[in-house]
Amino acid sequence: MTAPATDAPHRPDGLPDRIRHYIDGHEVDSIGGETFEVLDPVTNQTYLTAAAGQQADVDAAVAAARRAFVDGPWPRMLPRERSRVLHRIADLVESRDARLAELESFDSGLPITQALGQARRAAENFRFFADLVVAQSDDTFKVPGRQINYVNRKPIGVAGLITPWNTPFMLESWKLAPALATGNTVVLKPAEFTPLSASLWAGIFSEAGVPAGVFNLVNGLGEEAGDALVKHPDVPLISFTGESGTGEVIFANAAPHLKGLSMELGGKSPAVVFADADLDAAIDATIFGVFSLNGERCTAGSRILVERSVYDEFVERYAAQARRVVVGHPHDPDTEVGALVHPEHFEKVMGYVELGRSEGRLVAGGGRPEGFPTGNFVAPTVFADVAPDARIFQEEIFGPVVAITPFDTEAEAVELANAVRYGLAAYVWTNDLKRAHNVSQSIEAGMVWLNSNNVRDLRTPFGGVKASGLGHEGGYRSIDFYTDQQAVHITLGAVHNPTFGKN
Ligand code: NAD
Repeated sequence: MTAPATDAPHRPDGLPDRIRHYIDGHEVDSIGGETFEVLDPVTNQTYLTAAAGQQADVDAAVAAARRAFVDGPWPRMLPRERSRVLHRIADLVESRDARLAELESFDSGLPITQALGQARRAAENFRFFADLVVAQSDDTFKVPGRQINYVNRKPIGVAGLITPWNTPFMLESWKLAPALATGNTVVLKPAEFTPLSASLWAGIFSEAGVPAGVFNLVNGLGEEAGDALVKHPDVPLISFTGESGTGEVIFANAAPHLKGLSMELGGKSPAVVFADADLDAAIDATIFGVFSLNGERCTAGSRILVERSVYDEFVERYAAQARRVVVGHPHDPDTEVGALVHPEHFEKVMGYVELGRSEGRLVAGGGRPEGFPTGNFVAPTVFADVAPDARIFQEEIFGPVVAITPFDTEAEAVELANAVRYGLAAYVWTNDLKRAHNVSQSIEAGMVWLNSNNVRDLRTPFGGVKASGLGHEGGYRSIDFYTDQQAVHITLGAVHNPTFGKN
């Protein structure tokens, strides 16, 4: 289904026409004056130029962050004091949610209602880590009469945060909140396709009382600004979210410096639907799971495996519902699927749509939606009867495209679920208690949802296995990543010294 495309493209009031870096409390251009152009995904016209950070700009940002870490109050403030600042950040984000959503939707092509949800989630991330850091306790180990040993948790230093273009503001908050809550200082390098919402952090942080130098932002290309951050000797931590291929490059580049790395990478997550499942709920959830956020979602259930006895019914009903999903302009509140982020990404997704015609049976979508001759719009596309060796079954498409495959037995379902290089998320639909747990535990995925779409509990581990990532964040795992846990050992009784060299 498509919304009318005849109205003039929406342009938010007060849109900036340039974006600069934010270093040591000041907005600055690149030292050498380099810039790059940013397009909006509906017209694919340049609407702003952004400063393109180079080595010298990253050096300046890291130096400011290092000064703020070594000399500044931030790492030494009481957790309660930092927590108050983080709550103020959450308040400010909440109070600006409509503006944030408007800018995010314009810049990224996300439907406005979903962008609003992501802005609120960003506030929630700050609130969650503000609370967690004051509730933080650390272990003490007693050896009666001899020793008491305790964990002294310390912030590490300058954290380099590198983020992708899907739900950019929310994903930045996911790293910024725990890094700052624990007393680190940061340099953020947001994705070059979508720098607009990140530019709002500077004002929010300074208004909330974050001291200058604690938060620094360098815009720019991955191969330039991102690369300089990864290779910087004064940045001991890199938290990266992006493609698995980029993760491999960053892993290699960080290796000579032995940095702490958190890698949240790509996915090709299965939704496994057994015949005994609540099919209405499974269809609703699996439609939402791959078409929300334009399909540009790391945890998208982009492969649906369906037990053969309900397969034909499932495919027919799924395709009919997919055809009713509303494609429209990102700013329209009725829109369910908006515009893909960038013409390069649009070409990639359309390439898979073409390929799918020879790898599966097209039952919905299959190209541009009617009424959208321009812009990065793709109709929700469903391929059935997709073989497990098909590229559309194996490769991350990151758009509104889904592959459906039948299975006969529980063992085959698990085998198909695990037959890809990725292992981020999985969704299992069944009402059989034993099978639900056995299948969930057998699937190679960092996160499994049972009879549910992706509803996150912020306390749980977040991350993938296999090519989907290394390390977990979420709840206390984020606190662990952004802190050193120093063990301090104290002798209580007699000093226990083996004596060398006495005779
Ligand atoms: P990307 O890997 O192209 O870029 C991500 C970031 O890395 C950008 O800021 C980019 O500028 C930077 N970058 C690129 N090359 C670099 C280099 N050599 N050194 C340092 N930085 C570099 O990813 P993308 O296309 O922006 O995002 C989509 C991908 O992100 C998908 O694969 C998706 O699954 C993944 N993702 C994963 C999660 C998760 O939590 N697992 C969440 C969201 C997105």
